[in-house]
Amino acid sequence: MKFRTPSTIKPEEIHKMLDVVEGRILPLTEEFVRKGHNLFGGAVLDPVTLEPIVVGSNRRSDNPVFHGEVETLLRFYQLKDRPKAEDLVFLATHEPCCMCFSALAWCGFKEAWYLFDYTETDKDFNMPDDLIMLRELFGSQDIRRNNSYLNLYSVKEAAKLSSDAEALMARIEALKSKYKALPVVL
Ligand SMILES: [Zn+2]
Repeated sequence: MKFRTPSTIKPEEIHKMLDVVEGRILPLTEEFVRKGHNLFGGAVLDPVTLEPIVVGSNRRSDNPVFHGEVETLLRFYQLKDRPKAEDLVFLATHEPCCMCFSALAWCGFKEAWYLFDYTETDKDFNMPDDLIMLRELFGSQDIRRNNSYLNLYSVKEAAKLSSDAEALMARIEALKSKYKALPVVL
């Protein structure tokens, strides 16, 4: 397959990713947050249509390593006749932590996207652990988003480069407000 990048993805494809977050991931997250879970979610997308094959959301109260991405992967690997991960697109609502980024590499995904970055998770969602763990466990300030396993891209960076930047950025800000309003227990 031909991989997208922030400079080659089409505006309608970025809108489609936001549709998946707003229409499929967020409703599941709203349900799970009410059960005491966290607000992070993910989806495995068809590489052509970007339609979700599965969506998932954090289930930390069942198991602390069931992050949004891991929970999505659990659902994906329960599917019979699933396509190969390397042919699909992974979408995360928040920049994957070092555990989840590694999980995507272990599964063989080549193309992954995230909506809100580490700094936003820290400052806007008051969850600094992504950055603290990188520093404490790996002695690093950052991850290598483009490496020999996979490419991890920012939806927001793509939106800024897009011909429909204004509308896309407005949608992203509106989505952030919805996420910030979720009654997560810190
Ligand atoms: Zn994670």
